[in-house]
Amino acid sequence: MKYRTKEGEDREIQQNPAAVEEAERPQVIQVEEELTPKEETPKKKKKKGVLNIVLAILAILLAVASVSVYLAPQLLFKVYSDEEEFQDHADQRFRQLHILPEKGSRVVTYDYGEDIAVALRFDPSDDEKLAVFRDQRIREAEEDFRTRARDEEKARKAKEGKKLLYRPLQHVLFIDTAVYESGTGARSLAIYTEEYAEKDREMVKVASDVDTWLFDGEELKKLNPAQVFMPDYKEKASGYIKKYLQENYSEDQFSPEGEKSLEVATENYNKYILDDEGMTFFFNDGEVLKEGEGVVSVDVGRKLMGESIRDSVVERFIDPNKPMVALTYDDGPGGDAERKILKCLKKYDAVATFFYLGNRVKGGSDNLKLAYSLGCEIGNHSWDHANLASLDEDQIKSQITKTNKAVDKVIGRKPTVFRPPYGSTSDKVRESANMPEILWTVDTLDWSSRDAKKIYKKVVKTKNLDGKIILMHSLYDESAEATEKLVPWLEKKGYQMVTVSELIKYKSGEAPKAGESYRGEVDEEEAETE
Ligand code: ZN
Repeated sequence: MKYRTKEGEDREIQQNPAAVEEAERPQVIQVEEELTPKEETPKKKKKKGVLNIVLAILAILLAVASVSVYLAPQLLFKVYSDEEEFQDHADQRFRQLHILPEKGSRVVTYDYGEDIAVALRFDPSDDEKLAVFRDQRIREAEEDFRTRARDEEKARKAKEGKKLLYRPLQHVLFIDTAVYESGTGARSLAIYTEEYAEKDREMVKVASDVDTWLFDGEELKKLNPAQVFMPDYKEKASGYIKKYLQENYSEDQFSPEGEKSLEVATENYNKYILDDEGMTFFFNDGEVLKEGEGVVSVDVGRKLMGESIRDSVVERFIDPNKPMVALTYDDGPGGDAERKILKCLKKYDAVATFFYLGNRVKGGSDNLKLAYSLGCEIGNHSWDHANLASLDEDQIKSQITKTNKAVDKVIGRKPTVFRPPYGSTSDKVRESANMPEILWTVDTLDWSSRDAKKIYKKVVKTKNLDGKIILMHSLYDESAEATEKLVPWLEKKGYQMVTVSELIKYKSGEAPKAGESYRGEVDEEEAETE
């Protein structure tokens, strides 16, 4: 299926095999009424005097810096009866939509179906590399939406299919995207999605979600906030955002966890974009405000952020005086479990090292690209999980080189380190591989226990994790589940999660060398009990 712009020109942004099965579907009941967008209801229900004070404070703030908040308007519109009407709805919605800061030259494309329709807004002039990344994320969001919509209808049909009047209900997804330049070398991507489902002949908003990425301009590698901001940026933004939300929303609009969601912590302030005007922070539905209030976005002007935004991007910032640990995952690129791990790393601005098998790279190229774009290190784990110590020199070389080439083909970079399968190695292996060899300090034994609790405990029980390399596998749900608990635990304990090369560089004073073997820092007593 192709996206078509209103002018009729085909755009092959994404292919979607779904929604082709609508041949025998009954006509959608025609509804003549025009689109009736509900006026944005005023959110403030405060007494006049208080309102005036709030307005005065606002005016002062506006004078100091450029500041604005966009509320998600609660749009309610009728079901659509044909393609044109759907396009009109979509155009209207995008005109009203101000979650993402305004950006010129965006176009809207439509993927129309009688019961499932998607409209997308994007900027055709977005950087090419970034556009590939963006389209992949869009495709995932759309596939997820279509699957859910179809499942819902299937369930309905099973229940009501025998009734004469059954027809599939309509489902609509709006996707809004924008890329922002900051002038500091950092570039942000934001994707906002809004989902509607038919209820009593009207389309009702059922979900909304926003996600953001901060990249360097050139290599499309995710930037760690410390590279772009001074350490106090969260405090600064948080102080302002808290005050602003409290002044603009009534107490009963806040979610029970609202206050907790505004505490200064990475996971609370990890959705934002940076542009010339400053930063815009996003909070998903239900995070700060009650579920159903929609995504909240708050602009925090450059003047308010002051020195907290660095003039230019610095190299990945690691504090050598703070403890650090390297999470490593073998045997991928994998599927959903690995995807979960990557999502978790992103949430906490953490990185890990993935040791990939060459023969899985082609099938797992999306995960590989995502891992690399998140700033993770990509390692070589042989072509097909061979026991390298049992091979001759040429065979070892072939196992390593083929994998390096496969990875290079996908991300334009060869793996930087290697890990022999089973840890089976020798001088011959190290010499032939001609890359730094990485073993491990803490073996979670995830492949044998397949128990998230046990995996988690294995790490948490280790007395001192500073300088250590933790071994897991990215193919198992249990390892992903354990990661979701481990990463916040490590952050809370003050550990910096770094790549193996970073760990070695900071702990030994020099970058890992080809032909050398590393396994992280081993404590005497722990080595004995292992
Ligand atoms: Zn392995």
